[in-house]
Amino acid sequence: MKKHDRGIKKHKKPELERDITKIAHGDSPAEPLLEVMPLGPDEKLIAFFTKEYEACFTHYINDQDIQGYLLCNIHADGGGNCALCQAGKERKKKLLLPVYGIEANKVQVLSINMSMRPDSLLPQISNLLTSESAVIAAVTRNGYDYRVDTYNMTAAISESLAKAAKKFRRAMEKGEIVSLSSVYLTINNAVLAEIDEVKRALVIKGISPRR
Ligand SMILES: [Zn+2]
Repeated sequence: MKKHDRGIKKHKKPELERDITKIAHGDSPAEPLLEVMPLGPDEKLIAFFTKEYEACFTHYINDQDIQGYLLCNIHADGGGNCALCQAGKERKKKLLLPVYGIEANKVQVLSINMSMRPDSLLPQISNLLTSESAVIAAVTRNGYDYRVDTYNMTAAISESLAKAAKKFRRAMEKGEIVSLSSVYLTINNAVLAEIDEVKRALVIKGISPRR
């Protein structure tokens, strides 16, 4: 596919930043308010402040222009259409839990698969959230296996966590963060239908994508 930026809804009003030279002078460009906690072989330290989560459905796309998880276009109430569902792409449920990322010193979103295997994230995080004592978790990811070690909460981290959680809740109240699932891109069906493998499947199935 060639162009997909017209279909990306995440940035509703594309605004040009004022002065590119300011970046070189130490001004960082506007950061997204919320992002997925990037998990991998490097240990990430996180702390918890809530058990409240949001569920969403995603598809994994590995195209030359789009790589990663996208939100399924079928609405929470079951309405709407999704070109990726129609093309037979796996629809994967994810549980999004806001956590405090110690390295980033802000609230990030832990994206948790539904798997209940002992090495997966959900049972391990559930155990931590069930226990009474506050802990710092060190999470590493190797493919589908997660390792979660725990350390005692410190006064300094507890204080930073409280500040970050307060900031996060305020952003939710003010509507600056509408939904946790905004960490994933939403792309409209007409644009999704231009992704090579999606297009191929839709043509074979005789489906023309609907908005
Ligand atoms: Zn879908």
